[in-house]
Amino acid sequence: APSVSSCVDDASGEEVASGGEGVRVMVRVRPPNRREQREGGAPALSLVGPRTLVLTEPSRLEPVVKSYDHVFGCESTQEEVYAVAGAPVVEHCMAGFNSSIFAYGQTGAGKTHTMMGEACASEAGGLHPDCGLTLRVFAALFRAIEDVERGEGPQTLRYRISCSFLEIYNEEITDLLAPGPALQIRDGDVKRGVYVQDLSEHNVLNADDVMVLIQRGSENRHIAATRMNERSSRSHSVFTCTIEATERADTGITSTRTSKLNLIDLAGSERVGRSGARGDQLTEARSINKSLTVLGRVISALVERQKRPAVHVPYRDSRLTFLLQESLGGNSKTSVVACVTPAAESATESLSTLLFASGAKKIRNRAVVNEESGGDLRALQQENARLVRLVSELQ
Ligand code: ADP
Ligand code: MG
Repeated sequence: APSVSSCVDDASGEEVASGGEGVRVMVRVRPPNRREQREGGAPALSLVGPRTLVLTEPSRLEPVVKSYDHVFGCESTQEEVYAVAGAPVVEHCMAGFNSSIFAYGQTGAGKTHTMMGEACASEAGGLHPDCGLTLRVFAALFRAIEDVERGEGPQTLRYRISCSFLEIYNEEITDLLAPGPALQIRDGDVKRGVYVQDLSEHNVLNADDVMVLIQRGSENRHIAATRMNERSSRSHSVFTCTIEATERADTGITSTRTSKLNLIDLAGSERVGRSGARGDQLTEARSINKSLTVLGRVISALVERQKRPAVHVPYRDSRLTFLLQESLGGNSKTSVVACVTPAAESATESLSTLLFASGAKKIRNRAVVNEESGGDLRALQQENARLVRLVSELQ
């Protein structure tokens, strides 16, 4: 057995200086697939309790031991992953906070399985056991909304939910629900912040509506074959849902609370050399690396900013980070599910995924409830925070 105590990572429960709230970082180990079972030998990864895992990687003399907010072993079910990673997000949405879940990891490690899984109903009509986080989150969200709307009280709350689904492929944004020419990111709109111009928005009334959108969007995702995975996905996909809760009190005063939920299935994090990508695929891999490299740089800058507030965070250097800047060190409760395979042949990629996950653990976000009513203080505070950020970026 590896000598665990000699190299324990101190990241677990570590409190980084300065305020804000940490990014929740989870790791999911998928079961070895048939080929890995046949050729792989002993697995490189093993769990030590619910928060810690040990990785044997050839370039490291000692086993690498890392701790996270939660580690899902290869027997974990979609339901368990939802209970730990998804359920808190539903609560945040209902409370009016923005939230985001990122799935990170090499191609074939289980990102799409975790985020989407089987986007279909079971034969009994409920959720399919393989159904992933996205639909489970929405099913629970609609249940919670129904409860609130049914409840009696002096105020009446009404919810409106709309969704969009986009893809970032070769640093170009396309609408997965209304395919067409590449779209542009816009900033400067006081109310909307950063948004994608002309992205289609679809109102949804229940989880079935969401399922239809996911199925339609997933069919449109760019897929290219590489040696690592026949249907390897070379793009980032972002499923965004806007929840508007309008409250009308007896006094006649109305306020609207808007929260956004982003579910992000990142492109494979593997280096190009290993997947055997050539030609067109190499161009793809380079720009995938660009977005992911910038994501890594943004995370480093955010961590550095805790010590030196004037540090420039290069959000605008990639589409991914520009679009998702609120989720990275901003007004959002953010989680990362880092996906890894237990296979020895992937130990180096798994190490790189774990290091990314450890980096993400150090980001602090500042989530506030997005509420707006006549001269609402919070709206002013938010606008103020946005301007302060803009100014610090210009410096
Ligand atoms: P990625 O999106 O990271 O490239 P996928 O989610 O497509 O990877 O997973 C690759 C393959 O492994 C798929 O066939 C998927 O169904 C399977 N898989 C991934 N994670 C699990 C899991 N936790 N349990 C069972 N099968 C899984
Ligand atoms: Mg995928």
